[in-house]
Amino acid sequence: MANSHNPTADCIFCKIIAGELTSQTIAETDRVIAFRDINPQAPLHALIVPKRHYGDVAQVAGADPELLAEMVSLADEVASEHADGQFRFIFNSGPNAGQSVFHVHGHVLGGTKLGWNPA
Ligand code: 5GP
Repeated sequence: MANSHNPTADCIFCKIIAGELTSQTIAETDRVIAFRDINPQAPLHALIVPKRHYGDVAQVAGADPELLAEMVSLADEVASEHADGQFRFIFNSGPNAGQSVFHVHGHVLGGTKLGWNPA
């Protein structure tokens, strides 16, 4: 939980949220932003990111479950506006699960029939 509420100077998603780095933003609410992944894995691949810095999904769920619900709602909205409304919503939690940016984000994947190969 250390630093979970303090954006760190080297957090790239905090810099995107602050407007210090560019991103392709496709939706936004007061508390959550959605922008396209820089390395898309599907026709729709967006990241759903709370503006407040939390390290992973369990931290959000514990501290602010309503914020997690807002993230799911924005994922649904993005999938409806930028694909056919069907989507996969993935949180990688920890390096062994593939997390590489330690500012919580959900991956919204859609726009095609998805396979299933988590490895
Ligand atoms: P993770 O591996 O932490 O689950 O996902 C991090 C995601 O962030 C990756 O899919 C990666 O492509 C994406 N990403 C990393 N740096 C940037 C960036 O500067 N801009 C955008 N739009 N996406 C990024």
